[in-house]
Amino acid sequence: MKSLVRALAIGLVAAGVGVIVGRMLAPKPKPIPAEPLGRLKYGNEMFAKGKLLPPAVDEMTRYKLATEGQKPVAVVVSCSDARVPPEIIFNQGLGDLFVVRTAGNVVDEVGLASIEYAVEHLKVPLIVVLGHTQCGAVKAAIAGKPLEGHLPKLVEHIAPVLRRLRQTHPHLKGDSLEERAIQEHVRHVVQSIYERSAVVQKLYRLGKVEFAAGIYHLREGKVEWLKLPESLASHASKEATSSHECAPEKGH
Ligand SMILES: [Zn+2]
Repeated sequence: MKSLVRALAIGLVAAGVGVIVGRMLAPKPKPIPAEPLGRLKYGNEMFAKGKLLPPAVDEMTRYKLATEGQKPVAVVVSCSDARVPPEIIFNQGLGDLFVVRTAGNVVDEVGLASIEYAVEHLKVPLIVVLGHTQCGAVKAAIAGKPLEGHLPKLVEHIAPVLRRLRQTHPHLKGDSLEERAIQEHVRHVVQSIYERSAVVQKLYRLGKVEFAAGIYHLREGKVEWLKLPESLASHASKEATSSHECAPEKGH
């Protein structure tokens, strides 16, 4: 009996040691980056893997935001498409994202004013333009069929990008044309925000605001980060020497 008790005790101690050693050897979870783009990339990785961290949507967060005001980490310009909600795909909570959503992620005058308010008054340091696969607005621009109501106004924002793409890449057809049009449209929106807004230009030159461009893939749940337009990429790479996460690159 005594030897059985001793064997059990030894077994328990060994198991305990095993658990401790196992914990010590297990890979430590990656810390959440503090830098805005890194934080969004991390949030999207978790979302795509189905490992959502609980976003801050609790009572204390609501109280804090109501009494202290908002301090979003990024402006996200995205499509109104119900499959692309920025807070969910980046795994962010209340007060984290300042979102400008329109069908086709186009930026009209009011959209531009919203971005200016965010970067100038709320001091938001990052503007993300997010397109997505299977975007209906881009599909409509490609189809070029007559549209009712105000829809032609929407397609007008995408049509010039498409015309240019068809001239420079006449071989592109079907899915490859759509894929490329979605990317070029996102880059065009980034460029146009910069060119049309003196407020954004000033803050960008001072290094107080960055751009990032991405395409959200509906099936995979992943954001593919795109190269920025040439003129903006040079500035971003210069800034990136002091903050590695700031350089948006091609790839998932
Ligand atoms: Zn869309």
